[in-house]
Amino acid sequence: MPQRNLPIPPVKMIEFIDTISNYTDFEKKERFKNYKGYILLQERLYFLRGIDNKFNYISLGNPIEDRISTTQFKDLYDRKLVGGNGRAIYNAIFKSTEICPTCLLRGIDQVDHFLPKSKYPLYSVSPLNLVPICEKCNGVKSAKDANTFTFIHPYFHELNDLTWLKARIHIDSNIIGFNYFMDIPDTLENHIELEKVISEYLKALKLLPLYNSKASELHSNMQNIFRDMYDVGGKETVLALFKSFYKKGCKIGTSNSSEAVFYKALIDDD
Ligand SMILES: [Zn+2]
Repeated sequence: MPQRNLPIPPVKMIEFIDTISNYTDFEKKERFKNYKGYILLQERLYFLRGIDNKFNYISLGNPIEDRISTTQFKDLYDRKLVGGNGRAIYNAIFKSTEICPTCLLRGIDQVDHFLPKSKYPLYSVSPLNLVPICEKCNGVKSAKDANTFTFIHPYFHELNDLTWLKARIHIDSNIIGFNYFMDIPDTLENHIELEKVISEYLKALKLLPLYNSKASELHSNMQNIFRDMYDVGGKETVLALFKSFYKKGCKIGTSNSSEAVFYKALIDDD
């Protein structure tokens, strides 16, 4: 099984739909129950599209608008999932990681609809479509749909099997700097598609300049420690330290976090 940023949430939409029985509007409650099978089938299709990374095949809009409106789906999310007895689902997703799976750098600020609920209302309360995210990444993502942009889905995309982010060290007037870049082996069958997805993603989120500056910051914070270690134990000791920090930097199962790449660059640079 390929590694992903995050495992699929263990919480299930079906249990949530079964617990919305305290909906005050009796008619609305009946409608959700009547359409339960249909909504669950759509979630199954979402799963299959996810496995293939074909989110653009999922249709936009709400085919049952006349029975359960987009507003009612949003209301289900706001009042019943975030603010009601489905809160456990929200909390489980929020707490599933401490690092934003989109930028692999900042902490978690919110839960996001991977496919925006305004455009894909059927997935308003599906845990498969709810992902933890930082505020900045979510601001960039906003309500973009899967036809206009390919975001990397933390539960489905198989990119973590591959180290696709690297950094080069450069020295300008005695100051050490880092240049992060995408590096996808052209021996991979789908390398053209991957290059397109990853470069769009890095560009939209402005990640490379961010990683470059964070790496310089990290280096200046750590350089005294590196120097002390070198004085005490020589090159081998410093290398061992880099290696152990590299392992720690491989956050949420990926070697593409900026911190892991930072230590990998130091290890390779000797
Ligand atoms: Zn983020």
